[in-house]
Amino acid sequence: MRPIEDTYRHKGLRNKLVDTIREKGITDQKVLQAISGIPRHFFLDSAFDELAYEDRAFPIGEEQTISQPYTVAYQSQLLEVKPFEKILEVGTGSAYQACVLATMGAQVFTIERQRKLFDNNKQFQHLQKYPSIKFFYGDGYEGLPTFAPFDKVIITAAAPTIPSKLIDQLKTGGMMVIPLGAGEVQQMMRITKLENGTVQEEVFDHFSFVPMVVGKKN
Ligand code: SAH
Repeated sequence: MRPIEDTYRHKGLRNKLVDTIREKGITDQKVLQAISGIPRHFFLDSAFDELAYEDRAFPIGEEQTISQPYTVAYQSQLLEVKPFEKILEVGTGSAYQACVLATMGAQVFTIERQRKLFDNNKQFQHLQKYPSIKFFYGDGYEGLPTFAPFDKVIITAAAPTIPSKLIDQLKTGGMMVIPLGAGEVQQMMRITKLENGTVQEEVFDHFSFVPMVVGKKN
């Protein structure tokens, strides 16, 4: 069961979480405000009611996780989100990251490859507060050609290589934030698509994500 009450205690825990993330180096005010406003415990089973505000990843079923808040904040900060930007997210999972981006003013197109997780979000009442998020069941490696081009792409699963179709679906000057690597640990990268069709790569810290898997799962 999901919790439905957001109490002062939850808000207090959320403020502490924001302090923790700020101390770890997140400076983007829009990111910090989004995290302070979103009831993360709603995205988890009620068994995690208070744990939800620890800076940790937690299971959401189907061997997947809701990313650690610091990781969500880190990727969101690298994206340099501006109001009304079109952002493609690969790996909807709990939909928490999508809600952070929507709260920052983006129009979010999010894809999940697992039918069960996609269906869970259809039943999740709280998401009705985010009309700027569109949910898709599909393979993130294919992206969403019908809705392209995007200002930004965020990958929230470990990608062994940079998915070329997603670079194609980026606007010129657009950016992709992606944890790159086939092993246990990945390197956070920011890829900017340049005028002449080439890309510029920036390298950031190491993180550990669940793998980005090819194809849909029913
Ligand atoms: N952004 C999520 C993190 C979820 S973990 C959140 O905020 O909770 C990564 C998710 O990516 C998992 O749900 C997994 O099923 C999904 N995934 C992995 N490979 C994928 C692919 N090729 N296309 C779409 N989703 C994928």
